[in-house]
Amino acid sequence: LAIRTMSIPSTQYGFFYNKSSGLNLKKDLPVNKPGAGQLLLKVDAVGLCHSDLHVLYEGLDCGDNYVMGHEIAGTVAELGEEVSEFSVGDRVACVGPNGCGLCKHCLTGNDNVCTKSFLDWFGLGYNGGYEQFLLVKRPRNLVKIPDNVTSEEAAAITDAVLTPYHAIKSAGVGPASNILIIGAGGLGGNAIQVAKAFGAKVTVLDKKDKARDEAKAFGADQVYSELPESVLPGSFSACFDFVSVQATYDLCQTYCEPKGTIVPVGLGASSLNINLADLDLREITVKGSFWGTSMDLREAFELAAQGKVKPKVAHAPLTELPKYLEKLRAGGYEGRVVFNP
Ligand code: NAD
Ligand code: ZN
Ligand code: ZN
Repeated sequence: LAIRTMSIPSTQYGFFYNKSSGLNLKKDLPVNKPGAGQLLLKVDAVGLCHSDLHVLYEGLDCGDNYVMGHEIAGTVAELGEEVSEFSVGDRVACVGPNGCGLCKHCLTGNDNVCTKSFLDWFGLGYNGGYEQFLLVKRPRNLVKIPDNVTSEEAAAITDAVLTPYHAIKSAGVGPASNILIIGAGGLGGNAIQVAKAFGAKVTVLDKKDKARDEAKAFGADQVYSELPESVLPGSFSACFDFVSVQATYDLCQTYCEPKGTIVPVGLGASSLNINLADLDLREITVKGSFWGTSMDLREAFELAAQGKVKPKVAHAPLTELPKYLEKLRAGGYEGRVVFNP
């Protein structure tokens, strides 16, 4: 029998996404009973990501008919049968890509690109955290939150830290790297801290004054609204684009050194043109990067527990989500906003 200690309602409120009607508050969403091998999570904190805007307003296709909210931290509320690795009351965070654990990608440690869980991602295809209780079908995709990390920070860490961590780590950044970060918002601000933890020299480009102030506070070595002549084309070993529109991609290619790596992490354009002759002649790598693996999330929490990365988070009640969606769209705040359902 399921173990239940918290009082759990049978219905709940949440923000449900549907392609034709958009994102809407629903007050009668079911609270699902965890079956064998599953568990129910009480959502404590859930972050708002710019990807939500791409889904809602720019046609980024991540499936249909699900509760959004893909940066999730919560408390285990109820265990289905045969779940032994977690206890009711554990504070945990979700590994968004929700890998199956059994396919060749999962078995080689690349569970972020699991094909079995494609569009079965938390808050993007499968239900996420813009609700009070979330059914977790595969508890392997939960990571325990360190005691000295708040649930609000943990929510932001599951994407706004994890995604830059994965991108920076898989691009091979190290102490001798000289990197460019474009867009120091929710992800990019944390990317600065992660890159400094890896020992890199970090140059940041952001068009917004307040984002540049934050970038300095996060430890960037150089911060600009436009790259000056003193920064030479072909001088960065890796360029991380947290915007990824044509203009920012072009900057990355111009400023990337021979044999360097460009990682267009942002999803700002649905397609990009590359200058192929330049790419070939200087042997530049353009590298895709999706969210992060379950091992990456453990490592990101380790960095947070050690104080090497501390995401800047503001809180608001989940009922205020629509207001913050508009604010984010208008570039109205820095860092991450995290909601408490
Ligand atoms: P955000 O809105 O918090 O931050 C974007 C930042 O970029 C802002 O500071 C803004 O001022 C700056 N900016 C925008 N246009 C610019 C330009 N032309 N030049 C310089 N700076 C510019 O967004 P976020 O939540 O950090 O997300 C960033 C991007 O990453 C989004 O496109 C999002 O969809 C994407 N994303 C990708 C993945 C992945 O797995 N690849 C995961 C999460 C988010
Ligand atoms: Zn995201
Ligand atoms: Zn898999």
